[in-house]
Amino acid sequence: MKVAFVASEAVPYAKTGGLADVAGTLPLYLKKLGIETKIFLPKYKGISGTTFVKDIEVDITKKYHVGIHKKDDFYFIDCPEFFLRDGIYGSEKGDYPDNCERFTLFCKAVSRYITEDESFDIVHCNDWQSALIPLYLKFEKISVKTVFTIHNLGYQGLFPAEKFPLLGLARDYFTPESLEFYGKINFLKAGVLYSDIVTTVSENYAKEIQTPELGFGLDGVLRKRKESLFGIINGIDYKTWNPETDPLIYHLYNDYDGKQKNRSALIKEHDLKNSAPLLGIISRIAEQKGFDIIIDAFDSILDMGFNLIILGSGEEKYQKSLSTLASRYAGRVSLNIRFDNRLAHRIYAGSDFFLMPSRYEPCGLGQLISLRYGTVPVVRKTGGLADTIEEFDRRNNSGNGFLFEGYSVEEMLQALSKAYTLYDKEPRLLKALSEKCMGYDFSWEKSAVKYKELYESQLRP
Ligand code: ADP
Repeated sequence: MKVAFVASEAVPYAKTGGLADVAGTLPLYLKKLGIETKIFLPKYKGISGTTFVKDIEVDITKKYHVGIHKKDDFYFIDCPEFFLRDGIYGSEKGDYPDNCERFTLFCKAVSRYITEDESFDIVHCNDWQSALIPLYLKFEKISVKTVFTIHNLGYQGLFPAEKFPLLGLARDYFTPESLEFYGKINFLKAGVLYSDIVTTVSENYAKEIQTPELGFGLDGVLRKRKESLFGIINGIDYKTWNPETDPLIYHLYNDYDGKQKNRSALIKEHDLKNSAPLLGIISRIAEQKGFDIIIDAFDSILDMGFNLIILGSGEEKYQKSLSTLASRYAGRVSLNIRFDNRLAHRIYAGSDFFLMPSRYEPCGLGQLISLRYGTVPVVRKTGGLADTIEEFDRRNNSGNGFLFEGYSVEEMLQALSKAYTLYDKEPRLLKALSEKCMGYDFSWEKSAVKYKELYESQLRP
């Protein structure tokens, strides 16, 4: 079986969030199961050492000669005018104004390559940036099956109707039954409507997106496809995220005592004083991730007795509020507004608890990585967080973290206060819980088998 895995970001080449982890890792595990997997990615700035494969002509507003380049199992779509930029989707000013053109070109170029190549059995597209591909492939006379995975329904690729002609589709496709969404073009809808199988990244999120509360206006469309809609939980790459071998942390460890050495080093490096429990946050700074309640609860979290270390970048308004708040707490808060992989590893290793109060969370990787590093997650019970974190019960030591249901400051503080009490009153139990967390297995092996089974179900005559 041969699979084309198409995404707009993948480690180690380009990353803004979890999609990159998935697109860089799942193909490796599919390969272990005997599936030949090639990953298709735009050729962004900084991607070098590739070899030229062929040129492809793509027509959007004008004709583009797009280069296909290759390195290992990656195929890169080279169009410097669109992809040789500092950002993946935009700059500090916001999204690039030509994202519709950029990702239409990407989808057309990949579709053309796959059509000419004729050797792929499955094309697996991810999120709105590659969502037009299942539709484009329908027009081609090749017998390929398509899978479309939703990593985050909150981002749909919405563009003004005036841009519709550049997609090169008949006007019949600009209707509410097709790509139109309240007068706009909706890329993600193409993936949902025209792929053979739709998946999302946890079983719970697969159910949630069929409800008006979390369906982002597409719940009806998703319900129509419910027979072909599956939830498969993401794994994490335990080669990258392993405190026993991680070259980016201060001290390698496999127990709580080793973790404490990382905690001390992290606290020292960030000038954090006293022995308060350290609460880590690593996240895109976006509404989805719960920053409004983090900001409203900021003083209370510190009053309760936590120290905070935050790493993230994103929306300006939240960054500003966080900076103002953090400036009041010298020695107790470390705010790091940037993308910094090394610091991320160190925070996972050195924090006592990890906070993810997401409004919604398709899967979430932060809580899974935290578990591996023995950092106890405090999360909102939604999406993949609800599928992977279970309330700790001190009576029988079941569970692996602390949860809250309602999206509110009060409920989040209640969960945090349970974590605080454990730290303060029952250090031996916290040690045991931390070491138990290290032992959970959310590796890709099991999930890769599920994707394989889905692919096979599509190839049976
Ligand atoms: P999402 O994909 O919605 O952003 P996930 O929890 O699925 O959220 O994945 C986020 C990934 O990005 C994790 O690997 C996390 O450690 C990483 N990450 C997020 N923000 C930063 C940052 N500022 N610096 C380094 N890594 C980050």
